[in-house]
Amino acid sequence: MLVNATAMLQAAAKGHYAVGAFNTNNLEWASSILDAAEELQSPVILQCTSGAAKWQTSYKVVADLVKQLVEDKNITVPVALHLDHGTYEDVFKCIEAGFTSVMYDGSHEETFDLNLQRTAEVVKAAHAKGISVEAEVGGIGGVEDGVASNGELADPEQCKAIADLGVDFLACGIGNIHGIYPENWAGLSFERLGEIKALTGDLPLVLHGGTGIPVEQIQKAISLGISKINVNTDLQVVFAEATRKYIESGKDQQGKGYDPRKLLKPGRDAIVERTKELIVEFGSEGKGWA
Ligand SMILES: [Zn+2]
Repeated sequence: MLVNATAMLQAAAKGHYAVGAFNTNNLEWASSILDAAEELQSPVILQCTSGAAKWQTSYKVVADLVKQLVEDKNITVPVALHLDHGTYEDVFKCIEAGFTSVMYDGSHEETFDLNLQRTAEVVKAAHAKGISVEAEVGGIGGVEDGVASNGELADPEQCKAIADLGVDFLACGIGNIHGIYPENWAGLSFERLGEIKALTGDLPLVLHGGTGIPVEQIQKAISLGISKINVNTDLQVVFAEATRKYIESGKDQQGKGYDPRKLLKPGRDAIVERTKELIVEFGSEGKGWA
């Protein structure tokens, strides 16, 4: 069923596992991720950027699609529909459209004070409708939908100031990067994660850029307080690989292999399999109603 993300992430923080937040781009993506979560009885977060919403026409289309999929596929595990890296304006569109959770990314605002002020406004508006809120302190390295930053380590004092506004979970840079990690990547800063955790207490923390971080680092981060892990590029890569394999083997030119339901199936199956692997890695298998 469709719920906000607060209870599932608080349970994850207490239970020392993390819930995967997988980006959706279309019907195939949303449906595949839901299939994986239901099969492993894991809570799940489906999230959407403004770019992916534009691709699908609007936030309302995304919200209606996901809501109806959850209902008509008889998905029994908790599912949150979350806005990923929203601007201040995006957040209000998603609250109207029927999202159950929103991220206001104020890390690109001109000043930290503006991030604080707008985060407070978002918390008030979202909580009035039972919608959970993720905020961000410091930038995440790499590029997501044209928003770039230098991958700074979040300032623990700023994290505490944002946490004190009543946000439900918090994204903080700890050396993580969006997209594919470069060869010379320094790894996650567990020292900074520990410093942030010491000041933010029980607040579930979010790790962006979950694609390609070595499993040991993921699991250590979970043990130190990461409760939500964002995965976007990873599923794009496995979808593209499976689709390329289908085309390169010439299957689209055999019989009715050009039928989109045949053409998209290998990619769809690849998303299900990879999502299941990640759910197991994050430890949320069987935690549907933990
Ligand atoms: Zn992100």
